Amino acid sequence: MNAPDMNAHGLSRRALADAAVFISGTGTDVGKSVATAALLRALRHAGLAVQAVKPVQTGVADAAREGDAARYAQAVEDLPPGPLPPAATLHSFRLPASPHLAAAREDARLTVAGLRQDIEAHWRSLMALHDGDGSCALLLEGAGGLRVPFNEQEDTLDLMAVLAAPVVIVARNELGALNQIRLTLDAVRDRGLVTAGLVLTPPPDALATPDEATQAILADNESWLRARLETAGIPVAVLPWVRLNAAGWERLAQAVRPVAQALAALLRTPPNTAEGLVRRDRKVLWHPYTSTIEPLPVFVAQRSHHNRLVLADGRELVDGMSSWWAAVHGYNHPRLLAALRAQAGRMPHVMFGGLTHAPAVELAERLLDMLPQGLARVFPADSGSVAVEVALKMALQYQQGMGQPRRTRFLTPRGGYHGDTTGAMSVCDPVTGMHSLFARMLPQQLFMERPRCRFDQPFDPASLDDARQQLTEHGHEVAAVILEPVVQGAGGMWFYRPDYLRGLAQLCREAGALLIFDEIATGFGRTGTLFAAERAGVTPDILCCGKALTGGVLTLAATVCTEQVAEGICRDGNVFMHGPTYMGNPLACAVALASLRLLREGDWQAQVQMLEKGLRQGLAPCAGLPGVADVRVLGGIGVVETTEPIPVARLQAFFVERGVWIRPFGRLIYLMPPYVTPPEDLARLCDAVVDAVRQDVHLPN
Ligand code: PMP
Repeated sequence: MNAPDMNAHGLSRRALADAAVFISGTGTDVGKSVATAALLRALRHAGLAVQAVKPVQTGVADAAREGDAARYAQAVEDLPPGPLPPAATLHSFRLPASPHLAAAREDARLTVAGLRQDIEAHWRSLMALHDGDGSCALLLEGAGGLRVPFNEQEDTLDLMAVLAAPVVIVARNELGALNQIRLTLDAVRDRGLVTAGLVLTPPPDALATPDEATQAILADNESWLRARLETAGIPVAVLPWVRLNAAGWERLAQAVRPVAQALAALLRTPPNTAEGLVRRDRKVLWHPYTSTIEPLPVFVAQRSHHNRLVLADGRELVDGMSSWWAAVHGYNHPRLLAALRAQAGRMPHVMFGGLTHAPAVELAERLLDMLPQGLARVFPADSGSVAVEVALKMALQYQQGMGQPRRTRFLTPRGGYHGDTTGAMSVCDPVTGMHSLFARMLPQQLFMERPRCRFDQPFDPASLDDARQQLTEHGHEVAAVILEPVVQGAGGMWFYRPDYLRGLAQLCREAGALLIFDEIATGFGRTGTLFAAERAGVTPDILCCGKALTGGVLTLAATVCTEQVAEGICRDGNVFMHGPTYMGNPLACAVALASLRLLREGDWQAQVQMLEKGLRQGLAPCAGLPGVADVRVLGGIGVVETTEPIPVARLQAFFVERGVWIRPFGRLIYLMPPYVTPPEDLARLCDAVVDAVRQDVHLPN
């Protein structure tokens, strides 16, 4: 095949997912290998250069002679062979048991990543013979049913999910089949996979004529399934009992034709190409901070798993962004997805006015356990920006409640970022924020010097001078001081000493101003402590969190305040005036609760320390290179600050070619990978940044 069709890993641009079919059963011994062999023959009849592969075979001493691969070969031995590699078994074990056990008996360990590599290697050898012309395909036969384990953690369904190929389910037509088949179809759908067909095999005692009652049951199974599945576009094929000779295989190939035809159509359909989607996107969508007239390039993301994003053309990228600080546990974490599904089955949403529910109550309790002592009330919000709006309104209502209605302004350091809604924008940095665009409608806030005490240098008390002066001059009109503790995020990825926060808290107390910490980016471990406030030992009056709260699955944030703030707002019969439609969404709360449990049970501290060490080592070579102003690392955040604005589109394209997802902005190339990133992937992320800087890709045109 042509070199341009290969990506950096040598993977075909016609992704395996578009050219493979996974054949799985409702259990063991349901006739899967016969069905696979029959499909192989039928697809060869349909003109496809298709080969069958058994990734894992158990219960054979000599795979070449007695395994399923031998059966595939037998099913097509009278057909012209064509340029195809032979049918193959990739791993075989003697014990007739589940792969995890059979492999362990032979001191082997199967993993989804390893199996996938072997399958891809096989796929490449098939593609090499066919010039990538789109007419070749691979049938992959699973071992047993979907949840058959490969090891302590992974099973067949996990392999199917990473391969992302359409699925054919094979089931025996027998008593109990409807239940098994429906459960299997549900599990396939819940993993985001497509069932392309169902093959019913004859009952085990097919030679003995079943009694009338059994016959009626089997006939009903078939018609029930046809009625439900065929209307849903899933063809059903029913295999007769035959002797497995040339004539028998031909009969089976005819019987399986409805499924084979659907597969042939699927395999021949050009995949939903990335180019096509981008073209349609360009007509109807708008992306963050972009022009519709001169849009920045976009890439089509199709699937995700662990710390990887898979693009529509099959390229797999190591994620360096955690989807904007959120996906700390990586993508598609089974516990988060299970919480989502379970809650969806119970109650996806209900209004929060006058109603409450366990996910919200438990989430609030858990959050308060984790947050600095003294915070007592949780107000759920839909996004980080909304949480900031809520915090500002809380501060204003509190000051009114305390008889201080003139305290209507907010004091905040330069270089901050708090969101894109109006109130939040008003406290963003006045230069890099959007003040010039919206100056006339934004409330005019007070700005003080950015905390200039670098995190990695001794604290200089003079860095509080401007805060002190502002509060001395304007303290009487300040409702609250708002800032991001320790790390200023989107406003410049600036790390400063926690000592600053202790001094600031004292100044706020003296001035009668509340203190609001925006921990939307820093919360849930990113900086090395669960919340950045812990480093200072300061409990703010109000704290906002979001982003990683749901582990990157759903949008949810929270504004949390002390009992004193809540009482100040609610005294004299007052109420807090905020209540969005989707407030306390049960799905988001349930996922957040699961995410907090993962944090509690997991080793996020060690993971973030590992990230910090890897980022320090990996990004160090950037220091001193042309166009680099600073390199800094804190917890799971690594930053290369450049001297000039970065050509984002060019650098982004460079990174994607290198197999990593890193999105620079302004004068910042930064990494904040999922906590679960393996060391070798962290090294790949850092190497890509270092190479980009060495090759001057970060310099303006
Ligand atoms: N505050 C901070 C510190 C943030 O980093 C962000 C998002 N980057 C926000 C607020 C706004 O959150 P959202 O994008 O969820 O509205």
